[in-house]
Amino acid sequence: MAFVTRFAPSPTGPLHLGHAFSALLAHDMARANAGTFLLRIEDIDPQRSKPHWEAQLLDDLTWLGIRWDAPPMRQSDRMPAYRAALDDLWSRGLLYPCTCTRRDIDQALSAPQEGAPHHGPDGPVYPGTCRDRPRPALRPTDQHLRLNMAAALAAIAAEATRFTETGPAHAGTIATSATGYLAQIGDIVLARKDFGTSYHLSVVVDDAAQGITHVTRGEDLFEATAIHVLLQRLLGLPTPVYHHHRLIRDDKGKRLAKRDDARALARYRAEGASPQDIRHMVGLE
Ligand code: GLU
Repeated sequence: MAFVTRFAPSPTGPLHLGHAFSALLAHDMARANAGTFLLRIEDIDPQRSKPHWEAQLLDDLTWLGIRWDAPPMRQSDRMPAYRAALDDLWSRGLLYPCTCTRRDIDQALSAPQEGAPHHGPDGPVYPGTCRDRPRPALRPTDQHLRLNMAAALAAIAAEATRFTETGPAHAGTIATSATGYLAQIGDIVLARKDFGTSYHLSVVVDDAAQGITHVTRGEDLFEATAIHVLLQRLLGLPTPVYHHHRLIRDDKGKRLAKRDDARALARYRAEGASPQDIRHMVGLE
């Protein structure tokens, strides 16, 4: 079976030890399976993505010994593909515009009859305020567009959202029920008004475009995978095998974040660490 995997960093800050682990693991898995390793620069957010972070991450990855088997895909070049996917979902009545602010959503959710709000992969589950408003004929490009989850579930076969997970925490076949989708994920935003797409939509469209057969990424994205598999079904795209790996934590057990400059690879490099030292630090030999 072909083995094509990828590392998909966002150039919004320095790569830290957690990224090094993720990239090395995916790269090692590709090499061990005589497969292909690809890189994708996830720069859909023009406010947060910076060319100097991209240059730095390419340099850090090369220093680590990582080689990609094709030129990197850059998400900012892929807007036509995202628009085509959104047009498709819109024409099938699966998206609706949403004008709610975060405050509107918090207020609706704190109404006494609502009970404790569920938190999904994207935060509190949307209360549906804009769902039944009349839809304009043309897909708006200056408003958030949400997936109508009930309509989406009605459009696919119930068992179609199963996927295979090979990561240590959840290995096996993962199934999410319709109730799970409605109560724990809900009507997620698929196009943001500020940049016309979303992480979930872009990652699904691009994994398919790059022919990814195995997605290797952090455990923090495990919950989001149910969304990705649903979108693959709706868009007629294949579902890869998923491998969600452990997260690298700091001494206090906290997950590393982009702002933890102390853990930046550049910092270790400046202090004279070797790529082999980095492998040891993240528990790879
Ligand atoms: N761009 C995402 C990140 O930096 C990773 C996306 C993915 O692997 O699906 O966390």
